[in-house]
Amino acid sequence: MGEVPREEFVPKQHRRNAYADVALPLSHGQTISQPLMVAMSAEALQLQGHETVLEIGAGSGYQAAVLGRLAKKVHGIEIIPELVENARQVLHSLDIDNVEIHCADGRKGWPEGAPYDGIIVAAAADEVPPALLDQLREGGRIVIPVGNRWGQSLMAMRKRNGKLEEEELCRCIFVPLVYGG
Ligand code: SAH
Repeated sequence: MGEVPREEFVPKQHRRNAYADVALPLSHGQTISQPLMVAMSAEALQLQGHETVLEIGAGSGYQAAVLGRLAKKVHGIEIIPELVENARQVLHSLDIDNVEIHCADGRKGWPEGAPYDGIIVAAAADEVPPALLDQLREGGRIVIPVGNRWGQSLMAMRKRNGKLEEEELCRCIFVPLVYGG
C-alpha cells in the first residue's frame, strides 16, 4: 500500500487527508474505503503474485491498484460510468497496466476474466451473488461485507467442493451493492 499514492485517487479537496485511516467521499455519494479495510480485505485473499483477481465496486480504483501490486491481473467492476472513467485515467497516469476497470453490474461478476483466484466485494450485500461463486476457482477466496445498510460483517470465505467456508474478520460499514440493469 505504501507504493500506491492514495492521494491520486482522492478528490482534490480531500487530498490533505489521503493518509488518514478513514474512508473519504468520492463523487456520486460513493466513498473510497478506509485503508484498514483495504488492507484487511487484500490480506485475507492470501495472494502470492500469480493470481487473477476480481474487485466488485472499484470506485476510485485505489483498491484495484493495491491488488495490482499483489496479484498478476486485476479486473475491477464499477457501475457508475464517471467513476470508471476517472479510475482508468488515474491508473493510466500511474502506468499501472495490469488493472482493467469495466463498467458493469458487478452482481454478475465478469465472466470474460473467470475463473478468479480471489474476489473482493467493496460494497455491502445481503449474500454472495451466485455469479461470483460460479466465477471463483475451487480453493479461491472471496472477501465481502455481508449485512444490511446499517452494518455488516466483513467475511472471508474459501470455496471448497463448490461451497463456501466462512470466517468473520470484523464488523464494518460499506456503501450498498446496488442492483444494476
Ligand atoms: N474500492 C473502492 C471503493 C468502493 S465504494 C475504492 O478503492 O475506491 C463501493 C463502490 O461500489 C461504489 O463506487 C459503487 O458505485 C460501486 N457499486 C455499487 N453497486 C455496484 C454494482 N452492482 N456493481 C458494480 N459496482 C457497484
